[in-house]
Amino acid sequence: MKYWRKPLDFDKVKIPHGEVLIIANRCKGCGFCVEYCPKDVLVLSEEFNAKGYHPPKAVKSGECVNCSLCEMICPDFAIFSVEAGAGEAAGTAEATHPSGAQASGAGAAEERRTALEG
Ligand code: SF4
Ligand code: SF4
Repeated sequence: MKYWRKPLDFDKVKIPHGEVLIIANRCKGCGFCVEYCPKDVLVLSEEFNAKGYHPPKAVKSGECVNCSLCEMICPDFAIFSVEAGAGEAAGTAEATHPSGAQASGAGAAEERRTALEG
């Protein structure tokens, strides 16, 4: 599609890039995050969590724009997003990084987890 006009500061606007972190054992597999992610980053995985549900996984993690819609819509506080790069260094003991690795340490995501648990 060819745009006939664009904002004057188009070249200065940076599209945010986020990483989504999933606390699998909190998930009840409702699929809200999958359905409403505007970038179709998520799908329900084939794996089972401790409750017997299929938690989501990121299949297009590079497309995440850190809009936090998944975080806002999740009824079980099982998913959240952080600025790209923050998840590697931060993360939580429970949250799974899109790469599949268990993240650990302290930082932005830790603060988010604390806020969620508070
Ligand atoms: S933060 Fe936004 S773009 Fe990223 S996974 Fe969640 S809903 Fe999708
Ligand atoms: S919205 Fe929350 S509970 Fe529902 S599938 Fe996504 S992570 Fe799981």
